[in-house]
Amino acid sequence: MDDTNERLRALPAVDALLHTSQGEALVASAGRDLAVDALRSALAEARESILAGAACPATLDLLARALSLAGAAGEPTLHPVINATGVILHTNLGRAPLSAAVLEAMRRAASGYSNLEYDLAAGSRGSRYVHAESLLRRLTGAEAALVVNNNAGAVLLVLSALARDREVVISRGQLVEIGGGFRIPDVMAQSGADLVEVGTTNRTYLQDYGCAIGERTVALLRVHTSNYRMEGFVHQAPLRDLAELAHGRGLLCLEDLGSGTLLDTARYGLHHEPTVPESLADGADLVTFSGDKLLGGPQAGMIVGSADLIRRLREHPLTRALRVDKATLAGIQANLLHYLRGEAVEEIPVWRMMSRSAEDIERAARELLAALGSRAEGCEVMPGLSTVGGGSLPGESLPTALLALPAGHAEWLAEQLRSGDPPVIARIQDDRVVLDLRTVADQDLPALGERLAGLL
Ligand SMILES: *Cc1c(COP(=O)(O)O)cnc(C)c1O
Repeated sequence: MDDTNERLRALPAVDALLHTSQGEALVASAGRDLAVDALRSALAEARESILAGAACPATLDLLARALSLAGAAGEPTLHPVINATGVILHTNLGRAPLSAAVLEAMRRAASGYSNLEYDLAAGSRGSRYVHAESLLRRLTGAEAALVVNNNAGAVLLVLSALARDREVVISRGQLVEIGGGFRIPDVMAQSGADLVEVGTTNRTYLQDYGCAIGERTVALLRVHTSNYRMEGFVHQAPLRDLAELAHGRGLLCLEDLGSGTLLDTARYGLHHEPTVPESLADGADLVTFSGDKLLGGPQAGMIVGSADLIRRLREHPLTRALRVDKATLAGIQANLLHYLRGEAVEEIPVWRMMSRSAEDIERAARELLAALGSRAEGCEVMPGLSTVGGGSLPGESLPTALLALPAGHAEWLAEQLRSGDPPVIARIQDDRVVLDLRTVADQDLPALGERLAGLL
């Protein structure tokens, strides 16, 4: 212990380090505050390793460590990664990558002034909401539309504006946790609406809703179980029947569609996700969905449906708190235009990835392997499955080709891939690191090749 104390006492003071020539250079490059922080952190690390039995580091090593800490602190922490997981809508990796046209629209809107809330014809104040509304109306067949920050915000707004201090009936089979511990029932409770749960986990019938309707009931709510699927002895009342029941009793029929799609996922051999126009045609008064799941655009929450209800939402104070930024609106508009022009599958990255054939992915994997030359020893291309992810199409997969790295040390290899530049996120399958190129853009293939060449 005495020896440890001695080594701790041998550590230089921050002030002494600042007055070395390297310390002065550190202040000159990083600024005094960052330099002092970095030196303190380097000393704290040294203290810990001394307590763990290490020797007192040399002053030059402490300064070098502080220089690297200060350098890292001055760098952004949010940066691009290569998604080689094959999970198309990976919420942890930022969900939908955006199309070139969307990015350009966002850049243009954000880099200067725009007519965001300015009516050019009248020369006076306009509304930011017009920019997405007419497109959403045309594409979904809705009377009116409103865009907010995300779908959780959309659900919160709808219930706050229409159901505060009233009852909303929902099936026990639809109390969804979105991810990251966020639960739809909690979002709903936040709105001040009282949830009335009906049915059982696996079966809820129309009469369950009917029996739960009381004086304080204002709406029947359906939540699309977008990130899990129940099979076997299950029943959920169809939306059409719910809408009929609601309207017959003077209530609203609301639907949280989660992912929300405008295109038919069955075209790609996947389960048919209910589309937004279908929900409206089935009689939902309002439908909410995400902008960055299967829609493939910037993060947003879309609300479409009755003009009268949308007007009430617009007037609610929460709408201001949940409002979207100009760059987002420009991106949403450009993304919706892809659908209007019938070019969504070619232009929107999410749909391009969904529609990519296993043969095409295999070709890319073989080219990558060939470029690795002798380093590719132990690697192979083999069939596998990609998933859509992001709270949509649970249990569904698309046939793909996987580039499998040599067997053994899978955890270590995956960690090495993550820690380089650019970080590569891969999957481990049967104790082997596998890369699914479905989610790797063509322009990222050279960088991925270099990372692999450096590692193998
Ligand atoms: C994903 C999801 C949400 C949340 O959407 P965000 O856009 O992430 O806020 C809400 N409800 C359902 C059913 C979902 O699948």
